[in-house]
Amino acid sequence: MEAQERLENLIRVLPDWFAANKRDLPWRADREPYHVWLSEIMLQQTRVEAVKGYYSRFLAALPDIPALAAADPELLHKLWEGLGYYSRVRNLQKAAQLILERHGGVFPRSWEQVRALPGIGDYSAGAICSICFEQPTPAVDGNVLRVLSRVLAEERCVDEPRVKRELTALLAACYPSPGAGTLTQALMELGATVCLPNGAPNCGLCPAGEFCLSREGELWRRRPVRAKKKPRRVEQRTVFVLRCDGALALRKRKSSGLLAGLWEFPNLPGHLEAQAALDLAAERGLRPRALERELERTHVFTHIQWDMRCFYLRCGAQAPGFTWVREEELDSRCALPTAFRMFREAMEPGRDGRPPSPENNSL
Ligand code: SF4
Repeated sequence: MEAQERLENLIRVLPDWFAANKRDLPWRADREPYHVWLSEIMLQQTRVEAVKGYYSRFLAALPDIPALAAADPELLHKLWEGLGYYSRVRNLQKAAQLILERHGGVFPRSWEQVRALPGIGDYSAGAICSICFEQPTPAVDGNVLRVLSRVLAEERCVDEPRVKRELTALLAACYPSPGAGTLTQALMELGATVCLPNGAPNCGLCPAGEFCLSREGELWRRRPVRAKKKPRRVEQRTVFVLRCDGALALRKRKSSGLLAGLWEFPNLPGHLEAQAALDLAAERGLRPRALERELERTHVFTHIQWDMRCFYLRCGAQAPGFTWVREEELDSRCALPTAFRMFREAMEPGRDGRPPSPENNSL
């Protein structure tokens, strides 16, 4: 059986399987482009379960494209707090502003116009155009690549752009319209719930089981072929939670680079010892009264790992050079990424200082 025929078989069996097995997800309630777009962007690098709450809160605060375009950036960051990859939400807003300027507030329908919006790549454009407008535009992400690579027993590395392009073209050649939106969602669903990335896929429950070339002999263990990942760079950082008269010291991060524009607890490269941390606080005019706690935590970004040592200092003066924020205000208004939020969580009784949120990537 040729690859094309195998894919046609897959496309034939998926709609019924999807109808019987799809999860009830909030963004599947309708095919409104704003909703599908928002969910696709939120779901990048993030688990479905984690996204549900964020999605509902975001839509409650910013129910449509004009509201998103006009939103205060501080509110945007707060709504995204803990999801990671914060450039996604800034690009959402830029795209919303462009939709107002160039498209009269109506979400564009052509793949090229959708693809031209900030933050939208081939995958998201394909997902939006197929799900919302029934266009035969595949959306090939890691989940879908895994399914294709296993069904076809693709021997080449799927991280090579040429291989990904060829698989996408093969799929596009047999994409149905109408039926494109269901197929896009069904492929994603199969990759997310049956043809799993870690551990054994559920081949016994898979609608592709009869013609998949990776089921026999557990070839799925070696498919897809992936490129070796570079090891993460490990950096040590010293973090200060400085408390004075019910307020905490914060700083705003630079407007570009890692965690751009977000709030942070004061921190510096390297690991200080406790005495050096107290001396530094004294030099900065903070009049440290007590070292209340010391905590070590690791936070993992995509390419970097921060090994953090945090000192909780009770201070006698709100020295300049910091933004002193009342604790309630910090929680309700300031977007503090998980790398720092976990030290705030550790101040609450009953918390052990581990991050409660899904974020492990915060670029
Ligand atoms: S049969 Fe198994 S390996 Fe093949 S697509 Fe289905 S779950 Fe994946």
